[in-house]
Amino acid sequence: TQEVQERQDSKPVYGSSGRKIIYDENGKPCRTCNTLLDFQMATHGTKVNIPTPKPSLAIPNDSPKEASKSADSPYPYQKEYPPDVTKLGNHSWTLLHTIAAAYPEKPSIEQQNEMKTFLNIFAKIYPCWYCGKDFQSFIKKNEPKVMTQDDFGKWLCNAHNSVNIKLGKPKFKCELWKKRWKDGWDE
Ligand code: FAD
Repeated sequence: TQEVQERQDSKPVYGSSGRKIIYDENGKPCRTCNTLLDFQMATHGTKVNIPTPKPSLAIPNDSPKEASKSADSPYPYQKEYPPDVTKLGNHSWTLLHTIAAAYPEKPSIEQQNEMKTFLNIFAKIYPCWYCGKDFQSFIKKNEPKVMTQDDFGKWLCNAHNSVNIKLGKPKFKCELWKKRWKDGWDE
């Protein structure tokens, strides 16, 4: 593994994943831009605590009070961390592709404009700031295709592939986007 380097101001440059630590405009590690372990390393040093996954604490209808208690927490929820870059990304792509799957086959001009506006705002407010910046550049260079549902689904697939390539992940076959996100795979 890559050795952790220190910046002159003693902030780590690289995390234990080998990725660069990303900081926000105030010089603090950005939670949504780093992996959880890298974020914890940059925030607290190398010692990290990973919570043991617990079974879902869904509250059964018949005994809500019993289920709301757990051994080490007053809350009826699993102790989960705020999302890191990976979880945020996975859930965001799920939302985006599912929006494409629900987009009309023949959208009105108003719907097309709304989708373009949504994408521009989404890229601007995306919580991993450097991811959002790259997405904004992608949108500038590749105008969103929103004339039909299939156009939009494929455009989004290409946008996702540009990130896959950046991260060294395999490209998805965009002709299959509907099977993955709308219709399901042939049984
Ligand atoms: P994901 O890439 O999240 O994909 C989820 C699922 O989508 C996959 O399991 C697969 O079934 C399907 N899929 C994969 N590729 C495609 C495709 N092309 N079209 C349709 N479906 C597909 N992370 C960074 O580290 N750096 C970045 O700069 C960065 N930029 C991002 C920009 C945006 C706009 C978003 C939404 C996310 C970004 N991410 C970035 C997160 C990154 O893309 C992944 O979401 C994250 O690494 C988790 O990957 P994953 O393996 O869970 O699969």
